[in-house]
Amino acid sequence: MTHGFVLEFENQADLDYYLTEDPVHLEFSRKAAPLIEDSVVIDIRDGVLFGPPAKKPTVGAGTFHGSCHCGDCSWTAEITEPEHILCHCETCRKLGGGPYSMNQIIHKNQLQILSGKPSTYTYTGASGNPVHCYFCPNCTSHIYHHQAVMGDRIIIRTILLDNGARMPPAGEIFAEGKLAWVDALRAELEKR
Ligand SMILES: [Zn+2]
Ligand SMILES: [Zn+2]
Repeated sequence: MTHGFVLEFENQADLDYYLTEDPVHLEFSRKAAPLIEDSVVIDIRDGVLFGPPAKKPTVGAGTFHGSCHCGDCSWTAEITEPEHILCHCETCRKLGGGPYSMNQIIHKNQLQILSGKPSTYTYTGASGNPVHCYFCPNCTSHIYHHQAVMGDRIIIRTILLDNGARMPPAGEIFAEGKLAWVDALRAELEKR
């Protein structure tokens, strides 16, 4: 059984008092201790304060199932290092409507389309060579793309894979095109 408590303190001194001196809390902790297998205290702003560090939400290597928004297209991708490479280029922003895309390069044999028939959109990349984008014709989810210069390797959108939301970011490309607020997003939101 898992329980979560959310406590809000007006200042750090109150928090420190509650954790280390408050007699009611200390008595509760003493009585509850035999019943608690594991506990962790998380400061929503600063990360873990006490207890073991929270487990990093990572996933292991393997075959990942992917799907588009409408579900017409589904596929599997074999990935040895489940992580995202962020691309900040303008094309990714235009195609995806977000501040960056999340990708990984795999061999084309590591991608299997299980259902649906992706449509193709081709544009000329910065190198002057064609780039073919494969997307769901119904909902437009971008599944993968292939640059002529990459041979047998393709670029898949890692966030469309199951567990994609649990994969960590591992690098970024075209960082010079990064929107100024991407790194500062959390700080910006906290100011509001
Ligand atoms: Zn779709
Ligand atoms: Zn890009």
